[in-house]
Amino acid sequence: MTARIVVIGAGLGGLAASALLARAGHQVTVIERQDWVGGKSRRIELAGQRIDTGPSMVTFPDVWRQVLAAYDALGPTGESAADIAGVTLERLPEVGRYYYRGSQANLPVEAGHHWHDAWKRFEAEHGTLGPAITDLLVSDPWDPKVLPALGRLLSRYGTRLTTEAFLKGLPWMPQYLKDVVAIHTLNAGVAPSQTLALYASMAAVMATDGVWVPQGGVYEIPLGLEKLARHAGVDIHLSERVVSVSKGSVVTERATYDADYVVSALDGGILEGLMGAPAKKAPKRLSCSGVAVFGVLDEDLPEHVVTHSVMMPDRPADLFGALGKRVVPQQTMAFLNYYRPGQIYPNTRSVAAFLLTAPPNGLPFGIDDEFVQSESRRFSEVLGLTRPITEMMTDHMILDPEYFQGFGAVGGALYGEPAPWWRSGPLHKPGYNSPRNPWLWRVGSSVHPGGGIPAVLGGVLISTRRMLAHLPA
Ligand SMILES: Cc1cc2nc3c(=O)[nH]c(=O)nc-3n(C[C@H](O)[C@H](O)[C@H](O)COP(=O)(O)OP(=O)(O)OC[C@H]3O[C@@H](n4cnc5c(N)ncnc54)[C@H](O)[C@@H]3O)c2cc1C
Repeated sequence: MTARIVVIGAGLGGLAASALLARAGHQVTVIERQDWVGGKSRRIELAGQRIDTGPSMVTFPDVWRQVLAAYDALGPTGESAADIAGVTLERLPEVGRYYYRGSQANLPVEAGHHWHDAWKRFEAEHGTLGPAITDLLVSDPWDPKVLPALGRLLSRYGTRLTTEAFLKGLPWMPQYLKDVVAIHTLNAGVAPSQTLALYASMAAVMATDGVWVPQGGVYEIPLGLEKLARHAGVDIHLSERVVSVSKGSVVTERATYDADYVVSALDGGILEGLMGAPAKKAPKRLSCSGVAVFGVLDEDLPEHVVTHSVMMPDRPADLFGALGKRVVPQQTMAFLNYYRPGQIYPNTRSVAAFLLTAPPNGLPFGIDDEFVQSESRRFSEVLGLTRPITEMMTDHMILDPEYFQGFGAVGGALYGEPAPWWRSGPLHKPGYNSPRNPWLWRVGSSVHPGGGIPAVLGGVLISTRRMLAHLPA
């Protein structure tokens, strides 16, 4: 039997879910309020040059491959999902170069560096956990098949279950290297005291298994998912906002859609509002937001500047404190993603993304704001540039907490309200589905707050697998 399924939101979660459900033979409609697919993953053009905004790198590439494999397994043989999606992942030579209190190091740390021995030990102990983490990302947590992966991870962390607690127990690791490893929890928007020990392993796993960017840019991922969805017969409606959701129907500004099942790929609490729940009080704790300046450069940067540079704040604890209070920090964790002409993008000029971790205050920021300018000066000095990076941008676009708030999360918090660390993984709330509303399923970062592309796509695999088992065959 074919079910009528309406998927709300054409971000990575909604697109992937729609492609798999349609491939399994259901009649699927996707409704997206913006005029682009991809949600937080978006492509812009400045002075004729391509820049992808939102996510900039792909980790745990096996999760992407498993989405393609699931698509192939659900439908008739013929053209393969990989051929339809047309995404080619390219491994970057390093995870990034980190700058911290006058020290600098690539990850993986190069031979001869005073962190090298500690890094080698750390990578040997943690770098091989990628397949176990991938297993957890794509498998139903109640599936006994995850037990070996879980066992491998637990044996690594013992009873030190948060990132902070785990790193504290490594006396052989230099404090500065610990700080560099710990700051990766900001990829989940929160401090090391609020994340599972698993996050301590991320830097080592990324170094061993690589960080990847699709040829053409990260936006090739939503484009590939859109191709898979359309190939399977999904009807995608852009520029149409959903205004209410109830059992049996999804109402937009333009039409009412009958639905046997609804899949919500919306952020955080938006869905509850659409279902008529009274507005909740703003959460006490929020994950971080960001200020991102994307620009075309008037000159190429010196040869020593790598694709991903990371500048740490001198006092990470002050940054975590400021973010918690929602005030602009003195110094922040800043990234510079730099693509030379022809590298990844088919551009003729160099482009850069200058990304600043920012408080979730919902405010607009301009390129001339003191926060942006002082961090631009600090980063450029650290990199040995002759001018601040923002001065080199002939054309630019800035995305700020006000923009990110447009996706629904209070204050523009990139990952909404952080879940307590023990709620990560199988105990996440809300769940994929609840017995109270068996017609409603969820995917995307609302069920995997803090998770990037692999968590969103892995969650889609789990959620749609369960949903297909539940649908009448
Ligand atoms: C600055 C930044 C950098 C990041 N860097 C990385 C990275 O390097 N690597 C990585 O793996 N991850 C990264 N991430 C995380 C990654 O981008 C997200 O996890 C992922 O894009 C979330 O996808 P999603 O489908 O869950 O949500 P979204 O992309 O938010 O999709 C939700 C969709 O729902 C739509 N919507 C909302 N309300 C309605 C409505 N009423 N009606 C219809 N549609 C609606 C929205 O417009 C949106 O398209 C980054 C995120 C940001 C913001």
